[in-house]
Amino acid sequence: MNLVYRCPQCQKVIDQLAVPGEIDDEALGFNVLTAEEREDIIEVEEDNTYVNVVCDECAQDYAANQTLYNTQIH
Ligand SMILES: [Zn+2]
Repeated sequence: MNLVYRCPQCQKVIDQLAVPGEIDDEALGFNVLTAEEREDIIEVEEDNTYVNVVCDECAQDYAANQTLYNTQIH
C-alpha cells in the first residue's frame, strides 16, 4: 500500500510513502476526521491511498487570490 500526498489543485505529488499492510487510521491521524472530511481528503485507488493536501504554491495562490478579492470588494 502506498500513501500518496497529492495537491488537489495542481495534482502535484507532495510526498509518498510505502505503508506495509493496511493503512492505520490512528497512526496517520485519520481517525480524528469526520466521515465526510475523510471522503473529501482521502481517495483510495487500488494499491494507492491518496491524501489531498494543498501544496505550498497553491496555498500561496489561494492566499493571494483572497487578498485580491478582498481588495476589490473594499
Ligand atoms: Zn498545488
